[in-house]
Amino acid sequence: LTIMYGCDNFCSFCIVPYVRGRERSREASDILREAEALAAAGVKEIMLLGQNVNSYGLADGFDMDFADLIYAVNEIEGIDRIRFMTSHPKDLSDKLIGAYRDCEKLACHIHLPVQAGSDRVLKRMNRKYTRGSYLELIRKLREATEGRIAITTDIIVGFPGETEEDFRDTLSLMEEVKYDSAFTFLYSPRPGTPAAEYEDQIPEPVKHERFERMREILDEGMAENNAVYEGRIEKVLVEGPSRKNRKTLTGRTESMKIVNFEGRPEMIGQIVPVRITEAKTYSLVGEVMEWDTRQ
Ligand code: SF4
Repeated sequence: LTIMYGCDNFCSFCIVPYVRGRERSREASDILREAEALAAAGVKEIMLLGQNVNSYGLADGFDMDFADLIYAVNEIEGIDRIRFMTSHPKDLSDKLIGAYRDCEKLACHIHLPVQAGSDRVLKRMNRKYTRGSYLELIRKLREATEGRIAITTDIIVGFPGETEEDFRDTLSLMEEVKYDSAFTFLYSPRPGTPAAEYEDQIPEPVKHERFERMREILDEGMAENNAVYEGRIEKVLVEGPSRKNRKTLTGRTESMKIVNFEGRPEMIGQIVPVRITEAKTYSLVGEVMEWDTRQ
């Protein structure tokens, strides 16, 4: 459910503000009406979408900010899960972190793009936060959720001028946060953006070599995080047949982990309890517990 359009942040690598224009938020009453209609149509999970959802309403001088919107959607009957995407670390408020404590429907997951772990690179990216302030947000989120929150991110490797030391800062941040998953990108210049004009572009072989090292650390963290799911019973929102094996169903835990299990077609679109029997690096395998279609 789109709640806002455009972006005012002008990260130096990104074309979005030039092509989508300045930030505009939709009226909260329209968003809530649409969310209620989706719930009435049987939708179980709502994802609130925008380039920078944390600044919802701020540029437009609305009465409701993003955290207020989450609290309001949390009251809608029929909705079981709320997610949001994408969240800019510079605008993540304590009030929104508090919503993880108060709103039982807010999924215990956050996608919080870090992009780099070096302050020097973050500054050149025009991200407007530091490694320290980002790590402080992670600390607060973990504190608010008693360590349960799953954290995913976006990381760019080989941004212009990224030294080996800068890159190691990214690796050490990844080791510290231990992400549940990440979209990882090799930097590629977007014409019309400031970073495309920087003269200290990184040679492709260096970018690729760093990318491989980063994936190794990411995979280690993901495997370690997934291992703790073995034996747990998770509520899984069933999405449909698995792409690899049509006889298997696939769905997502509250923490966005993919779970594959044998089930029945009537489970699609429902939330079912699944016992996790095996943890892999990128997904979980499970067996469905007793489930009644009236649930
Ligand atoms: Fe905006 Fe995200 Fe692009 Fe930065 S990366 S300019 S926050 S859309």
